[in-house]
Amino acid sequence: MSDNQNFNNNVLIEVKDLHKAFGDHEVLKGINTTISKGEVVAIIGPSGCGKSTFLRSLNMLEVPTSGSVLFEGVDITDKSVDINKTRQKIGMVFQQFNLFPNMTVKENIMLAPVKLQIMGSEDAEAKAEELLARIGLADKAEMYPDQLSGGQKQRIAIARSLAMNPDVMLFDEPTSALDPEMVGEVLSLMKDLAKSGMTMVVVTHEMGFAREVASRVVFINDGTIQEENAPEAFFADPKNPRLKDFLSKVL
Ligand code: ADP
Ligand code: MG
Repeated sequence: MSDNQNFNNNVLIEVKDLHKAFGDHEVLKGINTTISKGEVVAIIGPSGCGKSTFLRSLNMLEVPTSGSVLFEGVDITDKSVDINKTRQKIGMVFQQFNLFPNMTVKENIMLAPVKLQIMGSEDAEAKAEELLARIGLADKAEMYPDQLSGGQKQRIAIARSLAMNPDVMLFDEPTSALDPEMVGEVLSLMKDLAKSGMTMVVVTHEMGFAREVASRVVFINDGTIQEENAPEAFFADPKNPRLKDFLSKVL
């Protein structure tokens, strides 16, 4: 619980006038949005528009040039905040799975909670087994990542993030590196996660997922949020000409 009087219990992340430049290149030009608990926010937009930069700014993997990001009421752009504590509450899944190749599946899932002393190894092992059962990969516990398919690896990467009991999960194009026949199993797991009430921010090119699973779709272009809406209205009645153009190319 925050001691901030204005803290709204339902708000998880608040982004205020977020700017990010790499040298002379201003990528984010004033992003404003609020993400509430239980929301599933799909972020879409053309390649290079700053989707990954935005997502990475939510846990300070990119340090904003200006503006603020409040996580559970705390401004995490403030240098005095222990960002590692906040990051423990933010799961992140990338296009590349980044599993540790020299560890078994179970060891991969147990690593962070044990290393960060959040759980003892017995609890972490039980948690890993529970998660593996939940994602339908209990029989892979003792295998190594290179013995798994891409879809299985990505599901393990999701389970590894879940082992930390995060308050939110960030996904950056989690299915973009997968062979087409493996996309479905990962989206299906993400859909289950959404149904379970997990707050999720998902950068994706999967318009079907955005339409079906997201509670809100956000279009980023030219460094700002140019449109956001519930999926039905977003896809049926886009207002911004750039969004109309974008959707005509991807749908
Ligand atoms: P998206 O995820 O929407 O494709 P990115 O957020 O990855 O876009 O990148 C937005 C822009 O910022 C691109 O022009 C990219 O080249 C640039 N960019 C991203 N990261 C860096 C970096 N670390 N240094 C310099 N430029 C970067
Ligand atoms: Mg990207």
